[in-house]
Amino acid sequence: MSETDVQPPLIFDAHLDLAINAVSFDRDLTQTIEEINAAERHMTDHPGRGRAVVSFPEMRRGSVAACLGTLLARSNLRSRPSNGYLRVDFDHAGDDMASAAASGQLAYYRLLAARNEVQMIGDAPALDRHFDLWRNAATTEPARKLPVGIVLSVEGSDPILGPSDCERWWREGLRVASLVHYGRNRYADGTGQEGPLTDEGRELLSEFMRLGMILDVTHLSDRGFFEAIDRFDGPLLATHNNCRALVPGQRQYSDDQIRLVYERGGLVCVALDAWMLHPGWVKGRTEAAVVSMKQVADQIEHIVSVSGDVAAAAIGSDLDGGFGNEQSPGDCRSIADLQKLPSHLRDRGFTDNDITRIMHGNLLSFLGKHLPADTKQGAHT
Ligand SMILES: [Zn+2]
Repeated sequence: MSETDVQPPLIFDAHLDLAINAVSFDRDLTQTIEEINAAERHMTDHPGRGRAVVSFPEMRRGSVAACLGTLLARSNLRSRPSNGYLRVDFDHAGDDMASAAASGQLAYYRLLAARNEVQMIGDAPALDRHFDLWRNAATTEPARKLPVGIVLSVEGSDPILGPSDCERWWREGLRVASLVHYGRNRYADGTGQEGPLTDEGRELLSEFMRLGMILDVTHLSDRGFFEAIDRFDGPLLATHNNCRALVPGQRQYSDDQIRLVYERGGLVCVALDAWMLHPGWVKGRTEAAVVSMKQVADQIEHIVSVSGDVAAAAIGSDLDGGFGNEQSPGDCRSIADLQKLPSHLRDRGFTDNDITRIMHGNLLSFLGKHLPADTKQGAHT
């Protein structure tokens, strides 16, 4: 790249499930995706095997400076699969097992943080320092190996063993939490369900407010979504959520839901999971080639037009969320391909400033405002 070339914008990805890919799928995320995929090519236990699109070298190549990195471990005693709970399952046979599995995932992030592969970010000053590091490196030494920033989040609060256990996770560095994933847990009804929050879910929201936890409203049932928005006074965002007007289905948000998140100062972060981008997608059947990064830009454009503000949109790619390139846009073979988005956005009239905000700026200001202001509050990160 010559000095006159414009640097690609830094990216802040609001949703990656990095740790479960390492701990449950046995992926060494410090390797290139070619190395990861070569090691898995003969494996048949999961459709995403040999099709990874996310690893730390790819994130650096795509200038993905930071992400919300999840803990993901569901408690589902009811599923009792006939071949047992497999290591690649999201489900565990009870609350204690799910909680301990999430602790294992956190241990993975900490191992990498000790080696400077990642940087755990638990407060606003740490977030500023991290982005300064990446901005300065982008102008002086683009190829340098920088740590990827991780703000700790949980996808489904199953690992939190009741409202009184929440403070323990806050002290461990957890800063963003959604109540539920697919199905139903002790706190709420999630994707595919229709019920409200439970009493424990309501109590957990009060605890989030007391501690300063950011609420992720992705995956709530419609009823749960409206109830949570009503009850919760703290900061909220949707870390990986697309638009129902473009792709029908309960997993996506109606225009009213998008407007509500925006009016509460939150962001709707667009996901790249192909079934949320293509109406009528059939998992395991529809070919990735029918979806492209253009549809991702459509989602962003819709969020901005419904809210009337570019501040409402961001990216939460979910590109390692239990699937691989078989369920990603056909022209997205690596997380580095997120850098194809700016040209699609430019085609739609977004300015360079708008694009920078969508790629990382909106999330950076949201978290800068809502993460704890000092390290004492930030506790152990
Ligand atoms: Zn998800």
